[in-house]
Amino acid sequence: MSARVALRCPRGDEAASPTPVTVPIPDAVRCTHCGDVHALAPASVNAQGGLQGCTACGHPELYTQKDFPRSLGIAIVVLAAVLAPFTYYASLGVAALVDALLYHFAPNVVLCYVCRSEHRGFSPIPKHPRFDREIEERLKFGERAVMGKPMRQGGTAGAPEPEH
Ligand SMILES: [Zn+2]
Ligand SMILES: [Zn+2]
Repeated sequence: MSARVALRCPRGDEAASPTPVTVPIPDAVRCTHCGDVHALAPASVNAQGGLQGCTACGHPELYTQKDFPRSLGIAIVVLAAVLAPFTYYASLGVAALVDALLYHFAPNVVLCYVCRSEHRGFSPIPKHPRFDREIEERLKFGERAVMGKPMRQGGTAGAPEPEH
């Protein structure tokens, strides 16, 4: 699977459809949302194909989550609930199992804390830990946010998982 990026338009909201970008990352891309050309950060991809930072905005802090469509999970639960009276409620247990399996085998997606651009298919090294609210709050409220820890040297590349 080749690596690709779903670029979030800085002028769009979270629901705006992202612009697809494939590797090698160009210096700039025309946005499918606003029509403008947005500068990218191709230097964020290292020689091994891993991410040192966001390829869209260059920010060094990223987080990893499962690429599992929430709507699919909800659809499975709804279907199981509809079938429950006919299956002596066994469908609910099956749905929980199917959900757990889908989640387990779902690929990872790496997101940028700042622009929310999504990275798929890149080398898993260096690893970026799962979402950390302390990083989110520091970025939102500034370096002196009460909850905020100072940024780790080199961003989240190879950082330990958050404890909380
Ligand atoms: Zn745009
Ligand atoms: Zn970014």
